[in-house]
Amino acid sequence: MAETTETTAPEVTLDEIVALCKRRGFIFPSSEIYGGIGSTYDYGHYGVLLRNNVKNEWWRAMIGERDDIVALDSAILQHPRVWEASGHLEGFTDPMVDCRTCGLRFRADKLEDAQCGRKPSKHPGEFSECDLTEAREFNLMFETHVGPVKDTGSITYLRPETAQGIFVNFKNVLQFARKKPPFGIAQIGKSFRNEITTGNFVFRTREFEQMEMEYFVPPDEAPKWHEYWMDERMRWYTELGIRPDKVTLRAHGAEELSHYSTATSDIEYLFPMGWSELEGIANRGDFDLTQHARMSDEKLEYFDQDKGEAYIPYVIEPAAGVDRAMLAFMVDAYDTEEVEGRKRTLLRLHPRLAPVKAAVLPLVSKDGMPERAREIYADVRAHVPAEYDEGGSIGKRYRRQDEIGTPWGITVDGETMEDGTVTLRDRDSLEQERVPAEGPGERLAAKLAKPWRTPKLG
Ligand code: ATP
Repeated sequence: MAETTETTAPEVTLDEIVALCKRRGFIFPSSEIYGGIGSTYDYGHYGVLLRNNVKNEWWRAMIGERDDIVALDSAILQHPRVWEASGHLEGFTDPMVDCRTCGLRFRADKLEDAQCGRKPSKHPGEFSECDLTEAREFNLMFETHVGPVKDTGSITYLRPETAQGIFVNFKNVLQFARKKPPFGIAQIGKSFRNEITTGNFVFRTREFEQMEMEYFVPPDEAPKWHEYWMDERMRWYTELGIRPDKVTLRAHGAEELSHYSTATSDIEYLFPMGWSELEGIANRGDFDLTQHARMSDEKLEYFDQDKGEAYIPYVIEPAAGVDRAMLAFMVDAYDTEEVEGRKRTLLRLHPRLAPVKAAVLPLVSKDGMPERAREIYADVRAHVPAEYDEGGSIGKRYRRQDEIGTPWGITVDGETMEDGTVTLRDRDSLEQERVPAEGPGERLAAKLAKPWRTPKLG
């Protein structure tokens, strides 16, 4: 992660996002009743819905809207030789130092981001008593054992990236998918890294989910497709509401490149802690297929019928994190404003990302309003994800929906019972219009299908 220092104060702090996530049931610290386990989180109801929407939008872009990519779901546990071939066993390390005084461990290249265990808080090495060891390489893969016998022959690893599951299935997919380069294999799944320094909420955790796509291309076309995927992935974020001035592409310098990469650019987002990586887009060349072919004695190449020759495709890889994307969408959507003397907090999420699209609310719990509202709710939820809520004052219920980012509210009131109309409330503009109580579900589905632009852009 490369961070540049941002001079202006962030629009929202990470603490505010953490508080909202806890308050509204998006994200909880894992094993909280036992005091938590460092940097591990559980996703609650709205967190699950929002994450699912992020993943669905990624699948839509990778599979739903094009014909040249197929899906895969490979296992987390793989043959240990996969990690030998990929270079992870040897090279997936971070430099680490220990402090002999306080017993804490830090990333040697990130001391300026770390805090010494002593008070008042300082960076490691800044107190006179700090006694740091020389830097040592620390492998980030979680080791585990397969089967009942814990010997060296049973060692395997929790995958640190989903990509290798794709490379080792290259031959399988090529046989069934009837694709030829350029074509891609996409997958979403959990990855695990024993990060030395975690933090910034779900930005860097030890268990996280990745959305990775390996795009296999003729070698001479690799630079062109690298450019193409950088544009596509930037477009994905901005079309889903991220403001263009909050997201940028940064090319890696030669010293920063991973062992497999000939060129990488990161999509960075202006998180509250500064510009940080959201997604990496790498030209992996033929490194992975060549390595796996060598180690497995399988031919991992494509035979070009037209040219009558076989070649090992190059790979362009857009690799994103579900958790980081979700965090960025929440940060970008977070807003507060004063309405009639009261502060309103809301998530101006793209409606397609919003966990709940519409809330159906009877103004009061009497005079037949709950019954009518339930009928309308049944119609709405048949078309879009919706929620029914009749508990508490209407203002409180609106605030709750604002905070989870629900774009539309339908209120059943006295007029509904008289003239058959309901109020349709817009989360962003707060406009309320009277619309027919019949068929609101279909109208909301049509609204959901329209392009959307964040009102933060004016
Ligand atoms: P960083 O430099 O931030 O550690 P990376 O360059 O090692 O990330 P990649 O290996 O390129 O990350 O992984 C692709 C994506 O997976 C990242 O852009 C990020 O969105 C996500 N990711 C990687 N590590 C983590 C983590 N520890 N926690 C959450 N998401 C992660």
